[in-house]
Amino acid sequence: MTYRIGELDPRFGVPDAELRDILDDAMALWQAESGRTLFKADRSGSLAIHLQYDKRQDRWEARQQAEQALEHARQRYEVLREEHDTLRQALETRQAAYRQQIQRYELRLAAHNTRVRQWNRGEIAHNAARARQLDQEAQALERQRQALEEQAAAAERSRLRVNQSVEAIRVAVEDLNRQVAYLNERFAAEPGYDKARYTRRQRGGVVTHSITVYQFHDRDDLRQVLAHELGHALGISHVEDPGALMYYRITDQNRGLTRLTAADHRALRDACGVALGGPPSAGTIASAAGPNRE
Ligand SMILES: [Zn+2]
Repeated sequence: MTYRIGELDPRFGVPDAELRDILDDAMALWQAESGRTLFKADRSGSLAIHLQYDKRQDRWEARQQAEQALEHARQRYEVLREEHDTLRQALETRQAAYRQQIQRYELRLAAHNTRVRQWNRGEIAHNAARARQLDQEAQALERQRQALEEQAAAAERSRLRVNQSVEAIRVAVEDLNRQVAYLNERFAAEPGYDKARYTRRQRGGVVTHSITVYQFHDRDDLRQVLAHELGHALGISHVEDPGALMYYRITDQNRGLTRLTAADHRALRDACGVALGGPPSAGTIASAAGPNRE
């Protein structure tokens, strides 16, 4: 059959020459199988191929952006968690060191107080050397107490930083949840919408038909959608095999396929065995629904 490029919306960013290359690849899938030239470019070809931009592609792009934003938020959350773990570890180390020094300080203080009591009760001999020693002990204890206060203040600052990081994580998690909810609300419940359509018209014995693509993810996706719709243009209906090009939707098994399956082959033989462009057949290829894109 003869084909021509029809309406080609520039918003898809696929120039005419590139669309022709992609079409060649899509057509090669069928032609390799049949060993015949099934499609021929012609300015007045009966099969028109359109790329028609509408809200489906807009929606796809909005979804891509939302997913990127979500990924960004996820990375931010991971960074905050790591920071939090580091801060928390530093705090625990600081607190353990502080507790140990407090214990040592209290032991020294108790020993000193005992000696002071003994001095006061006259249980130890009063002399200048002993007096100086008690005095020095008291001064050392005071310096130690001041150092401990500074350590306590540092531990408190460290604790505040940990709390701030907990708060930052809480905000990040809220942000993450909001974005997940947005994605789910706006996109995940989406049914497998039609991304392309093949239509066939017969007027006074003249058949004209068209393939219109409304949405695709990338060049490979476009190639697959076109190849599927070309199958309909050849008069082929959907087949049961989920790995086949002519399965009613794109699945993990048929995504990116580089050759037709036995089911596609049988369908082609049946269709072409009757007549090329045989019995009317209309169908659509739907994208997989759900939050997990490819
Ligand atoms: Zn279909």
